[in-house]
Amino acid sequence: MTIFDEFESAVQSYARSFPCIFNRAKNELLYDEAGNEYLDFLAGAGTLNYGHNNDLFKARLVEYIMADGITHGLDLHTKAKGEFLEAFNERILKPRNLDYVMQFTGPTGTNAVEAALKLARNVTGRENVISFTNGFHGVSLGALATTGNSHHRGAAGVSLGGSSRMPYDGYLGDGVDTTAYLDKVLGDSSSGIDLPAAVIVETVQGEGGINAASAEWLQQLESVCRKYDVLLIVDDVQAGCGRTGTFFSFEESGIKPDIVTMSKSLGGYGLPFAMVMIRPDLDQWKPGEHNGTFRGNNFAFVTAKAALDEYWADDRFAKDIQRKGEYVEKRLAQMAAAYGDGNFSTRGRGMFRGLNCVDGDLASKITRKAFANGLMIETSGADDQVVKILCPLIITDANLKKGLDILAAAIRDICAKESEMPEESDYFDNVQLVEPELTALAS
Ligand SMILES: *Cc1c(COP(=O)(O)O)cnc(C)c1O
Repeated sequence: MTIFDEFESAVQSYARSFPCIFNRAKNELLYDEAGNEYLDFLAGAGTLNYGHNNDLFKARLVEYIMADGITHGLDLHTKAKGEFLEAFNERILKPRNLDYVMQFTGPTGTNAVEAALKLARNVTGRENVISFTNGFHGVSLGALATTGNSHHRGAAGVSLGGSSRMPYDGYLGDGVDTTAYLDKVLGDSSSGIDLPAAVIVETVQGEGGINAASAEWLQQLESVCRKYDVLLIVDDVQAGCGRTGTFFSFEESGIKPDIVTMSKSLGGYGLPFAMVMIRPDLDQWKPGEHNGTFRGNNFAFVTAKAALDEYWADDRFAKDIQRKGEYVEKRLAQMAAAYGDGNFSTRGRGMFRGLNCVDGDLASKITRKAFANGLMIETSGADDQVVKILCPLIITDANLKKGLDILAAAIRDICAKESEMPEESDYFDNVQLVEPELTALAS
């Protein structure tokens, strides 16, 4: 029995998929205690867009620490915070013609979502918030009420109110524009749905299965919001910071959300950090109304600014993400065509991609097999049916190719075995007999 089995709560999740003891990481690579190397296609669920321990930020962080820069400062003005705000304005907001004020919440995505929902309700005086099927916005109660997943919702232990679910883009099939339904519902005083304070949406649903909304759908959603004077909140916690090929995931569609939540990769170095971007006239908070001890992580201000300086001073990084994203899409399409019996499909945008294997068991066999071959990769979606490709954006071409080769080989092996295997047999017992050295690595 390991120390983790003995003393760490059963709530562990990723640790179950990747049962190793990790102790070192660099860029897109992770190493376990035994020195085995893994390619990281999970990247902290989108927190490590710039890789593990990025040298460009590490030096600045170490320098800041050695100079006794402020570590904790509640929400005091610090030099590090000021420099981040300046860089964010210069490198991100100004070039995109965006006008927001920034609120630093407790350093988790869910706390940024809580603040966004609270502000929207206070400003509009309405309680209801529209969220979407398969949406994921965090697991604290307010955010959880807008999250779709029944496994997470079921753990709440209280009723989750104040939110109505609407069908996301594509939920009712390809030809159906679900914003038309939203429009109808909001315009009908007998629809049973109260006029909401806000709509909260991910432009690409990360945990929900890499469902990408089309630019047209997002534009329609924005115009429905404007029509009924409902605030539009984009939750860019996972899709933001370059993942889709632009800094914000909504840039391609040209929409201008009223409120944007950011976290995960915003801190740059994997440090806890969260921010709400607020249209200036909506910033009607009274001092300390939404507070927190860890508002604005000063280490993260330093590394977040470094990320903006190093990667977002021009459009080279964005172009590189788009290039790699197209390659990923091509490779996934090949895999779907070669092994999926016509059932597999690809999804996503930029370097936020997925392969829908339809069957969650099959997808998890594929990811376990890939891990045995040195590729850390997870599934997402309602039934964990989508293999989620979420590698660091800074990954080298060679390692991107290598990771996809490992994935392709895993799919080929699993799908080939699957079709010859009698229904009842325990697949992994059989694999252990055939390839003992591969499964040994994973345990
Ligand atoms: C991860 C995530 C959250 C929650 O962030 P935490 O830091 O886990 O609380 C919220 N929204 C989206 C879209 C996410 O991907």
